[in-house]
Amino acid sequence: MSSHPGPATSDPGARTSTPLVSVAGVDKYFGDFQALKHIDLDIPAGQVVILIGPSGSGKSTLCRTINRLETIQSGTIAIDGKPLPAEGKELAALRADVGMVFQSFNLFAHKTILENVTLGPMKVKGVKKAEAEAEARRLLERVGVGAQADKLPAQLSGGQQQRVAIARALAMQPKVMLFDEPTSALDPEMVKEVLDVMVELAKAGMTMIVVTHEMGFARTAGDRVVFMSDGEIVEDTDPETFFTNPTSPRAQDFLSKIL
Ligand code: ADP
Ligand code: MG
Repeated sequence: MSSHPGPATSDPGARTSTPLVSVAGVDKYFGDFQALKHIDLDIPAGQVVILIGPSGSGKSTLCRTINRLETIQSGTIAIDGKPLPAEGKELAALRADVGMVFQSFNLFAHKTILENVTLGPMKVKGVKKAEAEAEARRLLERVGVGAQADKLPAQLSGGQQQRVAIARALAMQPKVMLFDEPTSALDPEMVKEVLDVMVELAKAGMTMIVVTHEMGFARTAGDRVVFMSDGEIVEDTDPETFFTNPTSPRAQDFLSKIL
């Protein structure tokens, strides 16, 4: 079922298309420390990539470089064939193509749930208020928190807040969604309600990069596992192969500690 790009194929029936996310030769330094070492990663539209690896391996840094929250020292990143510029108006527009959901939900505490979701589309995309609100209510229903629209974030559970954060990202109509440990800060009983929303998104065809150690989710929703260690991609395979038959010693070591 995995559709990740392997070595060039000679299959004459194989369709070539522009990857939705294309990371090529990316190096990222923090001072002298190299956090990303020549990362190459092409992700076709609709693919769900599980990004996994030890703490400090560069997973968050890779996510942050993909929407230019971090600058890179070399290489290119393109979304839907368009290279991400380093800065400027064009960057803001392209960045809107990449939705991001973090471990900490980062909702605006003094704005209602509805306002949290309408803010981006109104400010960045110039969507009219009535239209933004209608879409926000539809998205809040979709993630199961429609009844909470007029409350403040603090009145919601962690699981509900994270679902609002997903709705807020979706409101920008992103082409790809990045999730950086979206359930790590949640109480255990709230993990499933967030993963369920992500599974639904995956089924609906959203292209996703998900940093998670949730093996159940990785195996059921993931098309592909990218394993990182020390700033490098060490393994890139389908979830079943990764979890049952990892080839690199570093992946074997990592899995022996978490499984
Ligand atoms: P992961 O998400 O896999 O745990 P990170 O991408 O957060 O890893 O970090 C990768 C490496 O880069 C770590 O060694 C971390 O200490 C370092 N790093 C991350 N952000 C910064 C920063 N802003 N300044 C300096 N070093 C950083
Ligand atoms: Mg991280």
